[in-house]
Parts: sequence; C-alpha cells; structure tokens
Amino acid sequence: CGITGYIGNKLAYPIVINGLRRLEYRGYDSAGIVLNENKNFKLFKTKGKVSDLEEICKGLKSDATVGVGHTRWATHGVPNDINSHPHLSNNEKIVLVHNGIIENYDTLKIMLTSKGYTFKSDTDTEVLVNLIQFMQDTQKIDLSTAVRLALNEVIGAYAIAVMEVDHPEEIVVARLSSPLAIGIGENEYFIASDASPFIEFTKEALYLEDGEMANISLKGVDVFKIKDNSKVNPIIQELKLS
Ligand code: GLU
Repeated sequence: CGITGYIGNKLAYPIVINGLRRLEYRGYDSAGIVLNENKNFKLFKTKGKVSDLEEICKGLKSDATVGVGHTRWATHGVPNDINSHPHLSNNEKIVLVHNGIIENYDTLKIMLTSKGYTFKSDTDTEVLVNLIQFMQDTQKIDLSTAVRLALNEVIGAYAIAVMEVDHPEEIVVARLSSPLAIGIGENEYFIASDASPFIEFTKEALYLEDGEMANISLKGVDVFKIKDNSKVNPIIQELKLS
C-alpha cells in the first residue's frame, strides 16, 4: 500500500498517477486519487489496479496543481470501490488518504454517530476524516490544528495526507509507525511512502519521524509534533541513486 502527492506549479494528475505506479511493488487491492481543481475536489477511486484507476480517469482534463493518491491494502472493510481511498468527510470539505490502522475506530465511530455523522464505507479511515471535521465543527480551527487534535484521540498506526477543499494551497501530512517522505523541489513538494515516486524530480527529501506532522504549502514545509504542536527542525537528506 502507499501514498503519494504533489503540490507545485506542474499538473498534478500525471505526477500522482506515475507515483502510484512506482509504489505498486508494495502491494495493494485498490487505488484512488483526488485533485483540488479551483476549490473543487475531483475524486476517482476503484478496486483493482492503477491501470483500472487510469481507465476511469480517461478523458480527464485537469489543470489542478495539487493532489494526492493512494493504494490500499484493506484492513477494515473488503476491497471494493466504496472502501477505497480517498475518503471525504460528511461536509465533503476534507479529504483523506491513509495507510495503517485506526485501532479505536469503533469507539470513535459510536461517538460520531451519536453526534449525527454518517458513514458510507466500512473503513476505519472514514472515521478519522469525520473526526477531523468534528474538530472543525466544534471549534473554529484550521485544518492542521483539526488534524492534530483528531490524531491525539487516535490509537493506531498511520501515514496520512489530508486536504481541505477551500485551501488548495496546502496539504497536511502525519505519520506514526508508517513511513512518509517529503521531496523538496523548486517551489514544489512531493509526498510519498518512499522516495521512489519523486526521485526523478528532486534529490532532497525529509522523512517524518514517528509522531510528527507537517504543513506543506508553496511557502515551505513546517514540521511539528502531533502531541504538543512543538516545532521540529527537520533534517533534509540528499538522496543517492542506487
Ligand atoms: N485501514 C485502512 C483501510 O482498510 C487503510 C489500509 C491501508 O493501509 O491501505 O482502508
């Protein structure tokens, strides 16, 4: 399974699709992509291969320069189109891709259901995206704060990438026990489970450590701790071709 994403000045679709192909070796049962095009989500997902995803995206002309992609290895809910990622929040303003497991998803799902949230899929992931919406519904906070507060309620393992429809200038990522790398280019940034999707574009990368999250925008990458929001000075590595 894998995550990849792009924010910059190039067209996001081909970069994200190629990134997903590079991650195919990790194994998966479903694939999906979401682009933010002029503050609208363009979302495609399917059970099957990246080639099946390309088939349903056929004819797509998107000038979006920000997007994320996902390959799923199902843990909660069978492999099917609905359980595939990305997952939208109830208000359709937040979108999330996730590798890993939310161990306490059932307790969180009961809480959210009691507040009126509904669920389309059987995944643990859809609980997390709605928990993020819940944080924004109950407090006036930006996306990264909502993600941080939600993750502080979560027990489990995750690499995630989150986008908000009204803020195409930003992607929020986080990791705990699942890998996540950020490739740093010239006014462009790449996200991936490992460097293989972006090594052709940049040799500079930083790897999030467990318990860290990052705001990625065209202004740069801010890394901080999920637990207490304290700033982290990340180490930027020079990737070597092997
Ligand atoms: N637990 C999530 C699901 O079943 C993510 C699985 C994965 O790591 O791809 O949808």
